[in-house]
Amino acid sequence: MSAVTRQTFDQVMVPNYAPSNVIPVRGAGSRLWDQQDREYIDLAGGIAVTVLGHAHPAMVAALTAQASKLWHLSNVMTNEPALELAQRLTALTFAEKVYFCNSGAEANEAAFKLARRWGHTRFGPNKHKIIAFYNAFHGRTLFTVSVGGQAKYTEGFGPLPGGIEHVPYNDLAALEAVMDDDVCAVVMEPLQGEGGVTPATPEFARGVRELCDRHQALLVYDEVQTGNGRTGTLYAHEQLGVTPDILTTAKGLGGGFPVGAMLTTSDIAATLAFGTHGSTYGGNPLACAVAGAVLDEISRPELLDNVQQRSAQLRAGLEALAQRYGLFTAPRGMGLLMGAPLVDAWKGRAKDIVTAALAQGVWMLVAGPDVLRFAPALNIGEADLAEGLLRLERALDELGR
Ligand SMILES: *Cc1c(COP(=O)(O)O)cnc(C)c1O
Repeated sequence: MSAVTRQTFDQVMVPNYAPSNVIPVRGAGSRLWDQQDREYIDLAGGIAVTVLGHAHPAMVAALTAQASKLWHLSNVMTNEPALELAQRLTALTFAEKVYFCNSGAEANEAAFKLARRWGHTRFGPNKHKIIAFYNAFHGRTLFTVSVGGQAKYTEGFGPLPGGIEHVPYNDLAALEAVMDDDVCAVVMEPLQGEGGVTPATPEFARGVRELCDRHQALLVYDEVQTGNGRTGTLYAHEQLGVTPDILTTAKGLGGGFPVGAMLTTSDIAATLAFGTHGSTYGGNPLACAVAGAVLDEISRPELLDNVQQRSAQLRAGLEALAQRYGLFTAPRGMGLLMGAPLVDAWKGRAKDIVTAALAQGVWMLVAGPDVLRFAPALNIGEADLAEGLLRLERALDELGR
């Protein structure tokens, strides 16, 4: 028995989280073990982060090799892992330039600051408006949480940054109504993750791109959750047939090691000139070495194939459970980012279902109070996923009684 318990959390931690009573102490692949050595199937992936599961040998090797060489220099000096990772990211995407940071919020903060500065520099101070969508999530810094479209996250933190407007997601007419030449950026997730696992329709995605072009506004894609193979392509926008001007990524990029990146074109990047933005840790050798190993694995065709196969398995499994137990309806999502919306009678109780599932040995997530969310490792095996669904079924059986 370990000396720290869940009670320790309440004694020493700021109460902004309410973690589960389970305290995992080790993991391997898509399995976790807690302090009592109980085993769990991980269908949450640390909130869409651990794309290769826990303790993947390639990541452990990259981390330990770099750990004995060099951990940190600052951006006063550059380093090989950062430059190699940037070369890889620019080779694999539309982007020509990369800015590294440590989280999704920081990647978005950089993107929004770049969009503002691009507007100021190229068009003048009036071109500063940012349009975003209700139910969007872009991080928790004051700027990113203000661009996010969930009022509950900004309550009590005002005054908030100005020049930001929200319109309903997948509603092109609403966007068109607020677009003008003062808009410097439209910010969207190709699939809203935290907001309920809601994919953009292809028509909406294309329409947003057209409106941005018409008003000379930048299109910013927040792929912090959808990126790095999660949806079955390296980035989700590839499936929508839309190329953004700025793309942000984090979560899966480091597979569990904190790292984020903002990708853009050389032309747009030029406005974030020397001295205009920065980060002490951004692009540090340890993070970039690990992210390089992750990128090697997730750009392998076998891994992206597995995402499609496990996605079909997860969808079919959830459809069967939806039919049998009637707590949720047919799942929605892309690749291995899937949501199951609760039926009216169960609305508000997503967390109860997750707690019941954990008691049966499977870890999953909510996306708001009304949607169950699944974001397993991209290399999860067929047997592990089947076992996870079986444990979920046991939980639904209990709850249904
Ligand atoms: C998680 C998330 C963020 C914030 O990332 P952090 O690393 O927690 O700062 C931003 N945007 C999206 C779409 C996310 O899912």
